[in-house]
Amino acid sequence: MFITVHAAAGAIVGTQISNPYLAFIAGVGLHFIMDIIPHGDRELGKRFFGLLNKKLSEEEKLRSLAAYGVMDYLVLIFFLIYSFKNFYFAKDDGVIWAMIGSILPDVLVALYMLTKYKWLKWFFDFHHWVHHLIIGRLKHDIHLKTGIIMQLIVFIILLLVLNYINNFSPLISF
Ligand SMILES: [Zn+2]
Repeated sequence: MFITVHAAAGAIVGTQISNPYLAFIAGVGLHFIMDIIPHGDRELGKRFFGLLNKKLSEEEKLRSLAAYGVMDYLVLIFFLIYSFKNFYFAKDDGVIWAMIGSILPDVLVALYMLTKYKWLKWFFDFHHWVHHLIIGRLKHDIHLKTGIIMQLIVFIILLLVLNYINNFSPLISF
């Protein structure tokens, strides 16, 4: 799933939790719940560049994934800038830590893929297991295009909710 969608959902959850520790845990939990939903990104790097049917070496696979990752994180940076410029709550501890929690799992996965650090393997495997809970049981993952459109719609809804909270601040603080 696009990292920006994770971040936007994390921000919403963060507006409702002021305790940074709870917000962080909620953000991580939310990341995994969102990843369970099929969103068309099995073999993402390859699919994104229309290379699914080509035989790629491990290095080429990693390179296509890295190219995808750079775009993904560029969009995230724009989203973060937008948030800090527009949302009064963007500096709240709860929001910041929930966003960190919702982004971190994919950062650790990327770190493992790039470095193959042994201490990260269990986390990579766990993330993969969660990610494939549903799509692993499907014959085919949903189409990447469908997945992207789905995520764009979800992102627009999340952005509307964030703007709503910003304008009407229905804050419940734990
Ligand atoms: Zn993930």
